[in-house]
Amino acid sequence: MTLSLYNTLTRRIEPFEPLAPPRVTLYTCGPTVWNFAHIGNFRTFLFEDLLRRYLEYSGYDVYHIMNLTDVDDRTIKAAAAAGKRLGEHTAPFVQAFFEDRDYLRIKPAHAYPRATESVPAMIRLVEQLLDRGVAYKGEDGSIYFAIAKFPTYGRLSRLDTRELKIGARVTSDEYAKDDPRDFALWKKVDGVDEQVGAAWEAPFGRGRPGWHLECSAMSLEQIGRCCHAETLDIHAGGVDLIFPHHEDEIAQSEAATGRPFARFWLHGEFLNVRGTKMSKRFGNFLTARDLREQGVDAAAVRLLFWQTHYRKALDFTDEALAAAGAGVKRLGEFQERLRGAGGAGRGVGELAKLATKFETDFRAALDDDLNAPRACGALFEFVHEANGALDRKAGGAAAVRAALDGAMGVLDILPTAKAADPALERWIAERIAARDKARKSKDFKEADWVRAELRAKGVEIEDTPGGTKWRLV
Ligand SMILES: [Zn+2]
Repeated sequence: MTLSLYNTLTRRIEPFEPLAPPRVTLYTCGPTVWNFAHIGNFRTFLFEDLLRRYLEYSGYDVYHIMNLTDVDDRTIKAAAAAGKRLGEHTAPFVQAFFEDRDYLRIKPAHAYPRATESVPAMIRLVEQLLDRGVAYKGEDGSIYFAIAKFPTYGRLSRLDTRELKIGARVTSDEYAKDDPRDFALWKKVDGVDEQVGAAWEAPFGRGRPGWHLECSAMSLEQIGRCCHAETLDIHAGGVDLIFPHHEDEIAQSEAATGRPFARFWLHGEFLNVRGTKMSKRFGNFLTARDLREQGVDAAAVRLLFWQTHYRKALDFTDEALAAAGAGVKRLGEFQERLRGAGGAGRGVGELAKLATKFETDFRAALDDDLNAPRACGALFEFVHEANGALDRKAGGAAAVRAALDGAMGVLDILPTAKAADPALERWIAERIAARDKARKSKDFKEADWVRAELRAKGVEIEDTPGGTKWRLV
């Protein structure tokens, strides 16, 4: 079995093979940093985290790029409303995004290009498109992409010409364009842009980039730099980005390079909160920091998300979150139990057989278009059966530990360890040193007394060849 993924471009599940194995180039559309990202955004980022981690688990060397949209209509509007310069307004939201990412245990991308720092690449791309005659200057001074010059436009979203016209927003620039479907690559500067500092000089006129242009320019620049490539192995994002954002990214990139822009297009579905679409109006708008402030363990959020396939809508409810929390707790207890279980080496005993079966099932589930709900089902069945085998004093705990570690490298849903405060840590280190000294002088009564003292504060110690280890229980 090899990994197969649903490709929006072909509307089929296809075997995945990168262009230059083991390297996989992955581009994911990042947050627009005008405000805090909500958990709907993070559902997409978590699905991408699962994808990235499973590719790595499968032996691929992933190069992951995620852009930060720090200049677009929304960021400019928000900065102007706050009476700030663009960078001043977006900086705290960039910081918040990274904090939320770490809270949710999302692996950092290898590159986070920022739109405002990638303007030269965008200008070069617009010049290329102008040279090729697929872009033109409109009557309003903005530069537009001529969809009529790109015959395969609409291939990703499969919308026909009529739908494309309906989909294209009717705006004041309607009469400046040759065709209402054409979209702006570069917007001529206006007063608000100047006021917030969102304007750049370009050979074709002072202005600012359109949002779609940002992703094409940044992804092509980054994969050129890291991998001498012009085609991405995988481009991912939320379903709401298929049209027009990704359609426009394809048009700009392919018209410039003459090569396929991305081979696999993956899209994650929406998230509802308590049965309805998330909205400030319905009072069900949730950000990652709301969850963190409520003391929700990120492991529970991750497990909750894994329990619905990424191409199905997910309903985020308090009950589902509580159930996921209980699942996480069960895993934590299982891990504790394994820590204490001895047993012979890998490959022998009842537990080793269970571990092998689980690894096979886990892989088969995720190979099947990242079927995480099935992988989680296999995991909890494994925990149940292994617990039964441990009750019977079966051997092979090492294999179980290894299988669990491997799966956690992908799902990462063990309970978050309780952090100790620095004063407690110092006290623990001091007590462990005192115990070592007592043991060296064979004062075992004193050593036992220190251990009891530590346990009273919830500290469990373990003597290993590398010294005494401790943890909070
Ligand atoms: Zn994008």
